[in-house]
Amino acid sequence: MLACVIHGPGDLRVEELPVPQPGPGRALVAVGYGGVCGSDLHYWRHGGVGDFLLREPMVLGHEVVGTVVALGDGAAGPVPGTEVAVHPASPCGRCPECAQGRRNVCRDTRYLGSAARFPHVQGGFAARLVVPAEQLRPLPGGLEPRRAALAEPLSVALHAVRRAGDVAGRHVLVTGAGPIGCLVVAAAKAAGAAHVTVTDLLPAALEYARAAGADTLVRADDPDDSGWPAAADAVDTAIEASGVAAGLDTCLRLVRRGGVVVQLGMLPPGPSPFAGNLVVSREIELRGAFRFDGEFDEALALLAAGPGFDALVSAVVPVREAEAAFVLAGDRGRSCKVLLDFAS
Ligand SMILES: [Zn+2]
Ligand SMILES: [Zn+2]
Repeated sequence: MLACVIHGPGDLRVEELPVPQPGPGRALVAVGYGGVCGSDLHYWRHGGVGDFLLREPMVLGHEVVGTVVALGDGAAGPVPGTEVAVHPASPCGRCPECAQGRRNVCRDTRYLGSAARFPHVQGGFAARLVVPAEQLRPLPGGLEPRRAALAEPLSVALHAVRRAGDVAGRHVLVTGAGPIGCLVVAAAKAAGAAHVTVTDLLPAALEYARAAGADTLVRADDPDDSGWPAAADAVDTAIEASGVAAGLDTCLRLVRRGGVVVQLGMLPPGPSPFAGNLVVSREIELRGAFRFDGEFDEALALLAAGPGFDALVSAVVPVREAEAAFVLAGDRGRSCKVLLDFAS
């Protein structure tokens, strides 16, 4: 079977690997599509993401949909032939975070295609994938697999909005209009946000945010852009989805006194400049958002109901051309979410 393996910075290979067999409790899935994520791009460009560094070759990919092929002994899961989305996380269930219901920050989780632990957890950019059967979710009726491939990043966005608290009737600012920022826009609107303003450097990226439901688009590099919130207290909640320190700065400067800022984008490793005095003098609540847990089922339901999400899938590329897909996914002027096609 073909798989997309990262060996080091800039060294992405499409390789033949043996087809895995499902052991007890596990399922074999024929992967249909896999979404290229910002973290996959980080492994490819830098050999790591945040503080997680590559120490051995790893199959990338954690945004995966496909069809169940076989179940191992005792596996309780969707029967062979069922179209499924794969929840990429299996938390340990034993650590204090799991016990407190914060399974997304489990200290011993296994997450597809992640170098956070060693040996790394191999990912889902492969024509056949074995995962614990309980990680499979049947696609709701009528949900196309291509759109369903957005379930993982949409879950991330839903979790970030949940971390922000109640946004119904509120003005939400989102910095960064990459795939995650666009899905945060959609998640905020679904949660009842009255107005969503999005900032980015690239006009093309902002157009994807418009398709996701943004009300106001702002060029982050244009201080005279008429879209900047006029009043100092106009923004109730800000969600940082660009992963650069300037985005966090924008959030801290524009959110109202006592407002909430959620850091979702993964900042570069090491210390970041940070307008901490604003957190103090305005009593801003700064919260992190990392991955997700139960939001995955919510994401699938939202995708099934929302044909507008299709506009965010900007290209589908055969796995043999994985490197071209990565180049495209890394060029935000030309793409939003790029999918690898493993079935063709
Ligand atoms: Zn992702
Ligand atoms: Zn745990």
